Amino acid sequence: MPQAFTRSLGFTRVSGDLAPDLHRIDGRQYGHYRDLRGRRYALDSGALTFEHIQGDPFAAPSRLRVDLPAGLLRLPAWARDGADARRACADFLQRAMRPALAAAAGGAGSGRSGMLEIAAAGQEVLERTGVVVGADGAVRVRLSAGLPAAGRRILGRAASELLTRRLDGALRHVAERLDFDVLRTHVQVVEDQVALRAQLGEHGLVAFLADGSILPRRSGADPRPLGAALPLAAPDPPAVELAAPHAGTVRGLGIRTGVTLVAGGGYHGKSTLLQAIALGVYDHSPGDGRERCVSAHSLVSVRAEDGRSVRGACLTPFIGALPLGRDTGCFDTDDASGSTSQAAAIVEALEAGATGLLIDEDTAATNFMIRDARMRRLVPGTDEPITPFIDRVRQLWQERGVSSVLVVGGAGDYLDVADCVIRMDAYQPRDVTAQAREIANAHPLGDAAPRAPGRWPHAPPRIPLPDSLDPRRGRRPERVRAVRTRAIEFGPEEIDVSLLYQLVDAAQCRMIGDLLLGLTRGLCDGRRDLPRILAALDADLREHGLDALAAPGFGDRARPRGFEVAAALNRLRSLRVARPAVD
Ligand code: ADP
Ligand code: MG
Repeated sequence: MPQAFTRSLGFTRVSGDLAPDLHRIDGRQYGHYRDLRGRRYALDSGALTFEHIQGDPFAAPSRLRVDLPAGLLRLPAWARDGADARRACADFLQRAMRPALAAAAGGAGSGRSGMLEIAAAGQEVLERTGVVVGADGAVRVRLSAGLPAAGRRILGRAASELLTRRLDGALRHVAERLDFDVLRTHVQVVEDQVALRAQLGEHGLVAFLADGSILPRRSGADPRPLGAALPLAAPDPPAVELAAPHAGTVRGLGIRTGVTLVAGGGYHGKSTLLQAIALGVYDHSPGDGRERCVSAHSLVSVRAEDGRSVRGACLTPFIGALPLGRDTGCFDTDDASGSTSQAAAIVEALEAGATGLLIDEDTAATNFMIRDARMRRLVPGTDEPITPFIDRVRQLWQERGVSSVLVVGGAGDYLDVADCVIRMDAYQPRDVTAQAREIANAHPLGDAAPRAPGRWPHAPPRIPLPDSLDPRRGRRPERVRAVRTRAIEFGPEEIDVSLLYQLVDAAQCRMIGDLLLGLTRGLCDGRRDLPRILAALDADLREHGLDALAAPGFGDRARPRGFEVAAALNRLRSLRVARPAVD
């Protein structure tokens, strides 16, 4: 039976029988596990490959790969036709395998002996390296295992039990118990989101949130849906209807292109709505509550982040002549202020291709967002380097086609620049655009009316310089490591990514580390500018999958967006950029 499986996978060579090989090294020094590295063995479920062997029982666990032949899971065509179906199917399998492997783990021993683990998945259905589904229905599984030892001596029989019985049994168990109805729902829910997102453009929308969606989360630390939440109900206008291939017609709140204001009293659900829009760039798994909330791929949350570094950013749309004659056309700082950091976040997002900006008053710098009539009198424009966002937001839309969705509860001047005003009232949206217009007309701002001070300055994209990306640390030629979604250690530095709202999964953060490392291996060559580097990464990932650029053998990587890759690079303090002269 195992032979038939390996044949169907097209393997030319299997390294022999696993159990005898493990029995042979029983009782020997732990280092002898290394003999297994790169070897491939037939299990009943599929072919097991040892990608990496831990150095001792306490070290990071060994990394294994199991290639399950198409015949094991017998995935129907609907689960493997198309990249989205395969991504959803893989996500489903990874979620199903995690508890199965945890239950199968065990056995006595030192350190991590007996551990079996596949990476966890959160609320989002991401392309991952833990499980990859092939178009032919073959499935690649990557997991970590603690190869058993007593002290530092190999427990060969326990290892044999762990891999040939427990691991193999768990995989076969998942295969046998696979509930195709639940899998089908998972795939369809993802396909619907992809289809809804694809319709946004033709309907003039940047986001869509279906009636009945549950937007609030349990807490800032728990992204699961809040239990006692009021489901979203869109007001009649501007409710829109989109067509989902599986769910049929879906009615909901459409957020139009242009400038949208989310107003309303404190604690009425404004930020919650904006956060749902921000995470609508990802597909959500069934039961999340936001599985029919979709946003255009290129919406970027921007915020103030004082203290961050900024490298060669052209801040002139927002920051003019600074004290002491500092150049804001090519701005460098190790310690940005609230307003400069927010200006930088916006120009960086635009450079990376953002078509929409999401800004919440809760996390914005007030002096960046607005300057009211009285302040304009006290400090004349000539002495104030900041052009507040309110003066540029219409220009961004009209000249550059970049939409904004802004949560503004306190600054009524914004009524002048909004195409659409949504009022959140006890967690329900109401369209108050007409009322907002009346108020704006009845209380004109006169001199203080928002207006762009000039054209949007042209700035060519920045070119990251390869020498400034140095992953070395001590004697190690490359050291890159992600710390949850909080930071990426890159060489001697720790890049702070904790405030990137749209970086949702530690697995994405790890992948960004791999991609940054990839930049040091040739992609960043001192000639390619940042947008071209991002495009090259995207093309590589699209064509070859995550495996092309992920650290080999790791099952805990997931695909990030280019915006978050750029954001991490932009926060690397050692970064240096070249900026072609403005023509
Ligand atoms: P705002 O930004 O308007 O001050 P938030 O979006 O922060 O308000 O929401 C305030 C609180 O209400 C949060 O704790 C949030 O989880 C909760 N909340 C938001 N939307 C709902 C809802 N639809 N049903 C129940 N609670 C909600
Ligand atoms: Mg808020």
